[in-house]
Amino acid sequence: MKENQIEKYCQFIRVIMERINSHFDDQKEYIKCREGCSLCCQNGEYPCSELEFEFLKIGFMSLEHNIQKIIVEKVEKLKQQQVLCNNGEKFIYECPFLIDNKCSVYKFRMIICRTFGLSYFTLADKQKGSNIIKVPFCCMQNGLNYSEVYDVEKNTFSNEKFKKGNFKKEPMAYNLSNDFLMEKFGKEIMDIDFGEIKPLIDWL
Ligand code: SF4
Ligand code: SF4
Repeated sequence: MKENQIEKYCQFIRVIMERINSHFDDQKEYIKCREGCSLCCQNGEYPCSELEFEFLKIGFMSLEHNIQKIIVEKVEKLKQQQVLCNNGEKFIYECPFLIDNKCSVYKFRMIICRTFGLSYFTLADKQKGSNIIKVPFCCMQNGLNYSEVYDVEKNTFSNEKFKKGNFKKEPMAYNLSNDFLMEKFGKEIMDIDFGEIKPLIDWL
């Protein structure tokens, strides 16, 4: 991976974070994210590109030796579990960078970790004219983000719940899929080569 790709990636992160932060701010009435809530880092696959992994490694190298050791031990355990669970299904696990309910590589975290928590739509659904909106599953299951305004059966926001809740701003879904951010914005506009994408555990 070329050095200038990391530089471009840092620039990319700055640009997308401005946008993501303003969406979180806009939707603050529905957002329950707070320090110590780490449900979203406890059960996932965490898709990660080669470039994102290179950046994560920089974060890992900046950690204290004892924290690095804890992470390495977690990874070793996960690798053993992955072998035992190799039944063709997705391997779902707690991210090894989660230490005491906090992300140990926060500034270096992946794109998916930055957008997670907001509602989003997929381009395929939008192109079909569908009003299906996706919300983070772990938040919904635990009465967190958007749970007061989401209709689980219809997979979209409920106008009735919105009115009943006396919210000021309408809930919104955003075009924040990894595909869009990497392919359309990162690759086509900023000329970034993200490389292969696979679950985080397969890079470790
Ligand atoms: S996205 Fe959901 S689970 Fe993750 S910190 Fe926010 S509220 Fe908690
Ligand atoms: S990198 Fe950090 S934010 Fe992302 S899943 Fe792991 S612990 Fe959570």
